[in-house]
Amino acid sequence: MFPVQVEFHRDELLVSYAGRTARANGLLGVADLFKDLEISAQAFHAGDSSAIERFASVAGIDPEQARSQTFIAMADDQFAIAGQQVADKHLLRRQFRVCPACLRADIGPELTRETATCAYARTAWSLTAVHSCPIHHLLLVFPPEAGTNFDFSHGWEPWLFELFEGDLDKPTQAEGKYEAFAEAVLNGEDPPRPGYLARLDIGAVGAAAEALGLSSIHGAKWSTTDISAEDGALALDAGFEVLSCGEQAVQSLLDALRFAIGKPQERPPGRYGRLHEWLLRGGGAGAEFAPLQDHLSRHIQETWPLGPKDICFRSQVTVRRFHSILTAAAQYGLRPVSVRGAGVISSPSAV
Ligand SMILES: [Zn+2]
Repeated sequence: MFPVQVEFHRDELLVSYAGRTARANGLLGVADLFKDLEISAQAFHAGDSSAIERFASVAGIDPEQARSQTFIAMADDQFAIAGQQVADKHLLRRQFRVCPACLRADIGPELTRETATCAYARTAWSLTAVHSCPIHHLLLVFPPEAGTNFDFSHGWEPWLFELFEGDLDKPTQAEGKYEAFAEAVLNGEDPPRPGYLARLDIGAVGAAAEALGLSSIHGAKWSTTDISAEDGALALDAGFEVLSCGEQAVQSLLDALRFAIGKPQERPPGRYGRLHEWLLRGGGAGAEFAPLQDHLSRHIQETWPLGPKDICFRSQVTVRRFHSILTAAAQYGLRPVSVRGAGVISSPSAV
């Protein structure tokens, strides 16, 4: 046991607890603490079970809880956390964003050397797609200067005065719908998972919500580099709503993109724009987004007059499902105007 104990919260990252314990006991940071305890920092940050158990036994905390609230490295760049599996690309594990108001609530009415160590990192803030705090409606912020990797207290202690004064507050209009869901999942509350929430892991839900939200607000053309943090947070809310409403809501979004006013000859990549690109070769191209990739592929097959040699999402079309006026005219050797009169367009192709 350490001379000074800090409380290990149910929604706290183990590494945050380790950092606060180090500071409360007069050490410089987590690196010093691990050196004193002869624990390999590398093993600890990879979630190695003997390193975690050794730390838990010295700290006097439940080893099961310690394991559940740290990132455990798995195969294929995945991490396990709180019974969930999340790809490393959906995580921020080394530096820590915070909601300033949550930290003020931790600290209490007065900021002192002792109360400073009460401020802690919530597990849900490690998900890259988490933009805001659903309780205080503030955007999450990094410390103005980066601290030592994996050391929450080192990163934030120098900025607690500014944070305490409200200087780092960035109010948002976003409701934080994905954020509330992610918090509930990571805190073991088992929230309902309607629609696509049941078919995507928690990291994929966030990334997909952002992409779908941006497409639903900005249409076919958007770029994450031009999107402000506030626009990103609002898009996340919108996309989370689409995912929770399921197939029908995603269908409506794809219909809106597909049938938006524009050049009639534009091919699928142009019509669905950034969403198509994102699912085909961008952030959404991974296997964890397969249900959405399948949905887009289905939508293209069902709404585009594609024929052999055309490309539908990832595959080449082998049979024509139905005609446009121009393709029917070509196949039957008619002028487009005769095709319109003959009704070929509405009858399914024989092939
Ligand atoms: Zn907050």
